[in-house]
Amino acid sequence: MYKTIEDEVLKKAPPAALQAEFAQHQFERLHRFCLLIYIASIVIWLVFDLIVGFIGGQGFSYLSLVFLGTYLILATILLFTRKARHFHVLNVIFVLTMSLGIRLLINGLPAPLHPAWLVLGASSLLYSASVMPLSRWSFYCAQVITWVVLNPFYNTDIKLLALKGTMTLCYSVFLCALILYSFLTLREAKLYAYITSKLLLDQAYIDTLTEIPNRRSFMAKAGKHLQAIPREQDHYLAMIDIDNFKKVNDVHGHDTGDVVLKHIAAHIKAVMRDHEYARLGGEEFAIYLPGVRRGDVETLAARLCQVVRDEPGEHPVTISIGLALVEDGDTLNQALIKADEALYASKHTGKDRYTFHQ
Ligand code: GH3
Ligand code: MG
Ligand code: MG
Repeated sequence: MYKTIEDEVLKKAPPAALQAEFAQHQFERLHRFCLLIYIASIVIWLVFDLIVGFIGGQGFSYLSLVFLGTYLILATILLFTRKARHFHVLNVIFVLTMSLGIRLLINGLPAPLHPAWLVLGASSLLYSASVMPLSRWSFYCAQVITWVVLNPFYNTDIKLLALKGTMTLCYSVFLCALILYSFLTLREAKLYAYITSKLLLDQAYIDTLTEIPNRRSFMAKAGKHLQAIPREQDHYLAMIDIDNFKKVNDVHGHDTGDVVLKHIAAHIKAVMRDHEYARLGGEEFAIYLPGVRRGDVETLAARLCQVVRDEPGEHPVTISIGLALVEDGDTLNQALIKADEALYASKHTGKDRYTFHQ
């Protein structure tokens, strides 16, 4: 069972819409964490700026204030950002300004220290980016920007083919590959965990035969509606049972019975699309109708009976419906019992009809 689900998740590439949904879900979960990383990065940058400025004897330049102001504006924008795709763009801007700020800091250090601190700055910035919920393109942009701006061979005294230069290059490539690998594997693991849990949830709440919501889904959704008190408008509950269904199975076989069940489920879905419908089990269905008038319920019940009668599929059948007004003190089970009693009345007065609970 688990193997089958895992195979289903792994065998095809997730569609773009699902990936976008995953990105949004990740961003919403990690929004505060991203803000924390931004603030921590700004504080660390400021501490280093003060160290270089005062202990290094450079003073606090107006450029430092410009960078600090920009970082604070970007962090404020992040505070109000709600869409993952906006964050992916914002992060590219943040990485660009942060790497420029780090370059400014490192320029204040003695020249021999530049290459090592550039590599340290770039790797710290990229590691921070790799733990954030970024899309692949946004992370690749962060990689390119960081290594272009914090290139340890630009404006420094090391030569690529000298010992120090070659070691710096090898170490930079190693770091870059390591961070890229951990970002991609972490992202893929999270994506597949998301898809698997979504698939499992779908399977837990959808009836496999008719592909409409099942009893578990109905109890959860109807239970939520039921808790809404005081109700602005009446709530009704409907129970539906196919008439003489045993005979369909006995005469035409179980497969035809299954086709009839699917056909009835499709009718219920079409007529009751604005309400909570489900297959409770066997050939019984339930519908929770929140915020309706008795007249609307009558119209819908009559239309459903008529559609089933007038548009037969493989085998013509009829349905009986029991309707109950959900009263303020009713539990879901009490409402279901009332609707079931009304259904019983429909069965005993000739079937193919709806009856309200008295
Ligand atoms: P009534 O009009 O009084 O409802 O009579 P009925 O024959 O429909 O009686 P009942 O509701 O007791 O019949 C339920 C039948 O539904 C029994 C069972 O064989 C059949 N059934 C239950 N689940 C399934 C299913 O998943 N597929 C098929 N094909 N039949 C099912
Ligand atoms: Mg039945
Ligand atoms: Mg029946």
